[in-house]
Amino acid sequence: MVKIVLGTRNPAKLSEMLRILGDIPGIIWVDFRALPFPEPQEDGVTFRANAEHKAREICCHTGLPALAEDSGLEVEALGGAPGVLSARFAGLEKDSNANTQLLLRKLHGSTNRRAQFTSFAVLAHPDGRRWQGEGVLQGAITSEPRGTGGFGYDPVFIPLGEQRTLAEMLPEEKDAISHRRRALEALRSVIVELAARG
Ligand code: IMP
Repeated sequence: MVKIVLGTRNPAKLSEMLRILGDIPGIIWVDFRALPFPEPQEDGVTFRANAEHKAREICCHTGLPALAEDSGLEVEALGGAPGVLSARFAGLEKDSNANTQLLLRKLHGSTNRRAQFTSFAVLAHPDGRRWQGEGVLQGAITSEPRGTGGFGYDPVFIPLGEQRTLAEMLPEEKDAISHRRRALEALRSVIVELAARG
């Protein structure tokens, strides 16, 4: 069996990552929250820089392969904000409800509701190898929150071609189309290979 550390402290993100990649045989997924290491800073200006930094730091601290993912929402009418600041849009408390309310206030009266989620995933191996994957989900911001599933901005995000928000979908419906799914699937064959080599 091969251990890979999942480098996130966000429980909702962690369970999505496990739903997406947890079926790969031969892997023991290690929960970073259970390890005595500080959370790496997320002060990069791109999703990619943050994901690379997190994966590298966790891999260095633990001596194990580490999979980190950085993601966020980019809103066209706000010039791409909140972007890498998505979790902290309304403050350092990372309060999803406050973030969502702030977003709706900023978009009040705007007819351009176009937005996209991006996820950038990096797998860092102790031998120095790195692999990466990126996924985007395009959609639009609603005028009010709908649904109780998912996390973060899911209640105000309708994927392109859908009527329901991500929070109104079943977990497997979100997983089938999500930015995170696309980013992590790009790493599947590498992880299968690592598991096969033991
Ligand atoms: P981070 O990747 O831990 O910096 O956090 C990303 C932030 O972006 C989350 O806290 C959410 O606010 C937002 N976000 C990223 N992916 C999703 C998603 O799938 N649904 C809703 N919000 C998301």
